[in-house]
Amino acid sequence: MSHITSPSYITRLMKKWGFSTKKRFGQNFLIDQNIVERIIACAQIQEGEWALEIGPGLGALTVHLADQAAHVVAMEIDTSLVAILRDTLQTPKATIWEGDALEADWRKLLEEAGWQGQPLRLVANLPYYLTSPLIMKALESALPFASMVVMVQKEVALRMLAEAGSKDFGILSLAVQYYAKGRMAMNVPRTVFLPSPAVDSAVVELIPRTPPVDAPRDELFAVIRAGFGQRRKTLRNALKTLMDEWPAGELSPESIDQALLRANIDPTMRAERLSLEEFSVLTKELLKGV
Ligand code: SAM
Repeated sequence: MSHITSPSYITRLMKKWGFSTKKRFGQNFLIDQNIVERIIACAQIQEGEWALEIGPGLGALTVHLADQAAHVVAMEIDTSLVAILRDTLQTPKATIWEGDALEADWRKLLEEAGWQGQPLRLVANLPYYLTSPLIMKALESALPFASMVVMVQKEVALRMLAEAGSKDFGILSLAVQYYAKGRMAMNVPRTVFLPSPAVDSAVVELIPRTPPVDAPRDELFAVIRAGFGQRRKTLRNALKTLMDEWPAGELSPESIDQALLRANIDPTMRAERLSLEEFSVLTKELLKGV
């Protein structure tokens, strides 16, 4: 089925179905079979495992996922693509679900397709306009993903994998570190897509893991959000927004200062210098103060 990535095949298919790509859905189709095969190899699908795909498009990845996985469930928002996919992917091993992947109940969709808890692989060439929310949804899903292999804009890949102190470091980097071990799998030039986007891409592999820190999750992320909500402010000032927000209540400027002191963190630092471990220590100290 390598023809799915051939530009002449895609042009003919689009003409036959009267389909033109929609920018608002982030439609950039893969036209390089070598890249497709490398993404599939990266997913390392083992016998009996299921695959979940976001945004199958014309099916460049889907056809391989259906071949290698016990079953693939692919979520596609564009009605016209769903019709094309159902026509081209004539296999009982693929379920095409039509709708918004961000709104969908992934567990329910999988179960409706016959999934019984087998290990999963998430594989997606993500629509650019929804990358972070979809990655967050996958990380927070509590589904048994053995790995997630996602193609994203290069700049997002750098943010996902950034370490404390770097300019790309932020909430997304901390969320990725909290839930998974991440790695840059490959750089992908803009020329392998139709239409060609304005930026280069990269494939990131995430292996979910038990969080490496022990602060309560919701409070930890409230502290992280407060810290980065006002990136340019010192931690001491940025954390003050927690005083209104934190349901546990009763944080004061003094208790924030004391928590920073006990956590051994300079209150004049900015959030982008704090590691996940330091955010965890700080959260626990802030909780003692309330
Ligand atoms: N997988 C195909 C490929 O690699 O050639 C297409 C990838 S294209 C970058 C992104 C795909 O996601 C498009 O097919 C688009 O219609 C679909 N999409 C966009 N927003 C979506 C959403 N909220 N839920 C599900 N699919 C979505």
